Amino acid sequence: MVGLVADMKDRVNAVRERIALAAQKAGRKPHEVRLVAVSKGRSVEEMIEVVRAGVDAIGENRVQEAAQKRALWPASMAVPWHMVGHLQRNKASKALDLFDIIQSVDSIPLAYVLSCLAARRGKILPILLEVNASREGSKYGFPPEEAVNAAEAIAELSNLSLLGLMTIGPLTDDRVQVRSAFELLRELRDKINETLKLNLSELSMGMSDDFEMAVEEGSTMVRIGRAIFDLKRPFEG
Ligand SMILES: *Cc1c(COP(=O)(O)O)cnc(C)c1O
Repeated sequence: MVGLVADMKDRVNAVRERIALAAQKAGRKPHEVRLVAVSKGRSVEEMIEVVRAGVDAIGENRVQEAAQKRALWPASMAVPWHMVGHLQRNKASKALDLFDIIQSVDSIPLAYVLSCLAARRGKILPILLEVNASREGSKYGFPPEEAVNAAEAIAELSNLSLLGLMTIGPLTDDRVQVRSAFELLRELRDKINETLKLNLSELSMGMSDDFEMAVEEGSTMVRIGRAIFDLKRPFEG
């Protein structure tokens, strides 16, 4: 067990180091990039270890799974919970009880429902707008050309706080294609800020296989699962 804990710490440290190197390469500071541990399919015990190892947030992609885990979560262990998966409107209320940030707002009706529910609870919900930067048919998110209009509509909802954009990189070994999806997300954020006079700062992009490129392209939150939880591939690059 002691060995397991040490390994988890080693893997988190290794990811942090790789983030730092990528940041440096792009003239950025390592602390500009938060590390979100995506813990779908992992046990609460593993999640506690990963929080002890110093990640900045927990990410889950299913409401039901997150609810079961939160029920077992130690109250003393304060860490932000991020929703990173597709959220159905009929689960929005439950999601609001479970999560501190919804990264995966992918439709105007969902944003509207979340804002109304947040208003009823007297709170402001931080969100990211999900963009399908790679235009893969299997993915959720606004098409890039709709992002500015979507941001405009969402920014007007009084109980949401729009912090930035989120995307999932394309599922391909073609590094050029992956990088250009991340570049596109950054350009979209800048365009939204310029067009709508907003000040969105967050870019949630980068997973186990592509986070260094995402950091080089301006990511402020990487969402990492396998690279920190997988015992089988400890330090893989
Ligand atoms: C699973 C998941 C991740 C983490 O993926 P890894 O490749 O395991 O790092 C990140 N973002 C979302 C939305 C996910 O569903």
